[in-house]
Amino acid sequence: MLNFLKSRFSLRGTVLSLFFVIALFLISVVGIQLFYFSKKISLEIVDLKLHGLTQNISNAIQNDENSNFDTINMLSLMNDKASNLDLYVNVLKSHPYIYGIYSGYEDGSFFQVINLNAHESLKSFYNAKEEDRWLKIEIQKNNKNKREIVLLDKDLNINSTKIEETNFVPKQRPWYKDALASTSPIKTDPYKFFTIDSMGFTYAKQFGNNNVIALDLLNNYFSHISTDHIQNSYINIYLFNQDGLVTSSLNNNLSIFNEFYKLIKNFDKFHEAQIIKLNDKKYIVQINKIKSDYEYSYIGIFSEYDKTINNYEDQSFSLIFIFGLTTLTIFPIIIIFSNMIIDPIYELVAQINKIKDRNYKGLVDIKASTLEVNLLSTAFSQMAKSIHKYQNYLEKIVEERTKELKKKNDELEKLSITDKLTNLYNRTKLDEVLNTEFNRSKRYDLNFSVIMLDIDFFKKVNDNFGHQVGDDVLIEVSRIVKSCIRITDTLGRWGGEEFLIICPNTDAKGAEILASNINQAVKIHKFSSYPNKLTVSLGVATYYNNLVKPEDIISKADKALYEAKNSGRDKVVVFNNNL
Ligand code: GH3
Ligand code: MG
Ligand code: MG
Repeated sequence: MLNFLKSRFSLRGTVLSLFFVIALFLISVVGIQLFYFSKKISLEIVDLKLHGLTQNISNAIQNDENSNFDTINMLSLMNDKASNLDLYVNVLKSHPYIYGIYSGYEDGSFFQVINLNAHESLKSFYNAKEEDRWLKIEIQKNNKNKREIVLLDKDLNINSTKIEETNFVPKQRPWYKDALASTSPIKTDPYKFFTIDSMGFTYAKQFGNNNVIALDLLNNYFSHISTDHIQNSYINIYLFNQDGLVTSSLNNNLSIFNEFYKLIKNFDKFHEAQIIKLNDKKYIVQINKIKSDYEYSYIGIFSEYDKTINNYEDQSFSLIFIFGLTTLTIFPIIIIFSNMIIDPIYELVAQINKIKDRNYKGLVDIKASTLEVNLLSTAFSQMAKSIHKYQNYLEKIVEERTKELKKKNDELEKLSITDKLTNLYNRTKLDEVLNTEFNRSKRYDLNFSVIMLDIDFFKKVNDNFGHQVGDDVLIEVSRIVKSCIRITDTLGRWGGEEFLIICPNTDAKGAEILASNINQAVKIHKFSSYPNKLTVSLGVATYYNNLVKPEDIISKADKALYEAKNSGRDKVVVFNNNL
């Protein structure tokens, strides 16, 4: 029963279950919270992040644009035909995304330096070799149908020179015309270069007397800016204009943007991140305008929904996992702490069982590390000592009382079988002995005899000397008779001045001798308070197996006594069938 209770409702089990339920509850609540709200929150976080990203990229573009305007301004001021090559090369060296710098002159001449490393397809386009680093194109004012193409190595040594026909008229180019129309530098709309597979811009400025200097900027610088800010492959960024013309993208995959542009023409609401399905995949899309000096461009960030949000879901998962793990590690700690309480309690139970078995010597003091349990065990050990002391005390008292009771009982028993006056057995005891003796003799076919004694003329003793003397005489007669009988014989007062002697293993002859001895002893006795002689009459009867009950032998002894009285007293009469 106790074990059953122990295994079902133990304190440790209860505490652990309670903790487990609370932990489970917390994990569920936190888990649900994380899963239900993490998407919402993470979308907001993504929105914020994308805004930041847009801002950073916009700033970078703006900075870049400013720097490009600075460059063209600087070039327009420093332009001097004689030193053009060195100047252009130096600028190109420090601006890797500037593809080429060129100038057209009022007189129709043209001078250009191209950085062959600016794009991977440039060298093949110009049939350049590995060691070729720079390309110089020059049209002379007096030979406008020819252009000289020079390939130079990194130290500006000429590797090859080629002169070819050309119909290129600088003054008719849009950049030249546009630059002349403005006193400040201009920047063209993005366009695709015809030499290489890349978008780009041209910055141009007039200088001197209707001369124009320009630089071509490859738009792939944008991916360089973007990769500085974005490491995740599932995020793509597009720079595009209102007409959906993508001037630049982080990777060259335009299919997502094209799909988007097919569906959406008004980008306004995408200022806040929106979830949209493109090519059967969900994307978080945010589009912002970038203010540039000459046009409004857009920057669009397309982030794969699942992968973006997964990041946050993974974080939620790991949060729950860590929480679960922490919970698990707390279990042993709880067990250790609960043991601090439970172990002393089990020890207490063991101690209580010892008290139950009265094994006080086996009791030990229990030391518990918890204050309350310590108090409990201290109180218990004091209680055990007190119980032990009290039990000892009770046992001692019970022992004493039992002794007294036994003594009293013995006395009572003695009293119940003793005649008060003579201190001999009374009638009760005589009946019992007679009964025992009768049964014993009958069973073992033994014989026993009884002697009934009656004091002769005792009435006279009383009448003449008073009852006190009569009593004394009775006492003295009982002493005389006692002195005559064997230890195995039983002597008792039958009533009044009559006595009965039961003699085991004694035949009629033996009993008669004893009766005679008694008769003689009384006769010769000199009583202390009674001056006269006294005689007694005795009737003897012996058991024979024809007797049916104990009373039979008494009635025979009675008859014999009666005969003794009738025939003159002071004699012994043995019963015979003639009586
Ligand atoms: P008998 O020879 O025929 O036996 O004559 P008796 O006087 O002895 O017989 P009886 O039966 O007439 O008298 C017995 C007397 O014994 C009567 C009674 O007063 C007296 N007696 C009986 N018990 C006691 C006792 O305890 N103390 C005293 N003092 N006398 C007793
Ligand atoms: Mg009598
Ligand atoms: Mg008498």
